[in-house]
Amino acid sequence: MDATNLIQSFRIDGKVAVVTGAGSGIGRACALALAGAGATVVCADVDATGANRTAAAIIEAGGSSSGERIDVSHRDEVEVLATRVAAELGSVDVWCNIAGIMVEGPVLDAPEEDFDRIIAINLKGVFFGCQAAGRVMTAQPGGGSIVNASSAAADAPSPNIACYAICKAGVVQLTKSMATEVGKHNVRVNAVAPGFVLTAMTGRYFVRPDGTVDEAMRNAVVEPMRKHTPLRAIGEPEDIAASVLFLASDAARFMTGQVLRPNGGVAMV
Ligand code: NAP
Repeated sequence: MDATNLIQSFRIDGKVAVVTGAGSGIGRACALALAGAGATVVCADVDATGANRTAAAIIEAGGSSSGERIDVSHRDEVEVLATRVAAELGSVDVWCNIAGIMVEGPVLDAPEEDFDRIIAINLKGVFFGCQAAGRVMTAQPGGGSIVNASSAAADAPSPNIACYAICKAGVVQLTKSMATEVGKHNVRVNAVAPGFVLTAMTGRYFVRPDGTVDEAMRNAVVEPMRKHTPLRAIGEPEDIAASVLFLASDAARFMTGQVLRPNGGVAMV
């Protein structure tokens, strides 16, 4: 690598990337960032409209993209997508497991169905993505980079999100374990653990069904978060996409099994 031109190693021109959860929030920002850095991006989401909207935004900006409806909790759908992308586009160089949901409530009251649902999407969905992408990447000459979405919730326990935090801690362990197995094939597996980011997932506390914002509720949710964060800031999806792009690119070619924490300093591990 040429140290005087390191910025080039952040480019991923000609690579093929798949981003789950690309229809909204952090996944959308990741898809746009990877496309902006030169990749062809497959935008995958259970919300087909959102996935197609992100793909259209990439194409509008001059990039190459397509939208795919996928439910990451269905292993067969994930495997079919990985195999088809490799066959049609020639490789799967980057795979970002960003799709996720939030389920809240105290441990003592958590219904088994809620626990099963969040495990199916936030943990098994990432596992299936890692398996499907890993099989393609270990079989292709260039290897690849997998980036998984964990959360600051895995670092800093707080009430009412135990099921979510369990999934996100599991994602970290999956990331590290898999990294030890596939590194010899030049496949890297890393994770990001974002702090509080304004997206549909967090906005549902204060965005009304008609799309208007309940400002009093917004302040009640966001301001304590901001004050609690060393940088006194709330994250934007692009703050997370920057870390994902780094991990996806050759700039991180010596990194695997790691967790990057774009979180404003709210957890320091
Ligand atoms: P978001 O705006 O709600 O986006 C999540 C996307 O994933 C949505 O388009 C959602 O579709 C999709 N999705 C849900 N279930 C799916 C499934 N089974 N298969 C495929 N796609 C599915 O949320 P976000 O805030 O960007 O979160 C993205 C990731 O970052 C999640 O893994 C989340 O846990 C993690 N994260 C977020 C924060 C934060 O503060 N926002 C912090 C730490 C970590 P629908 O809208 O149709 O459900």
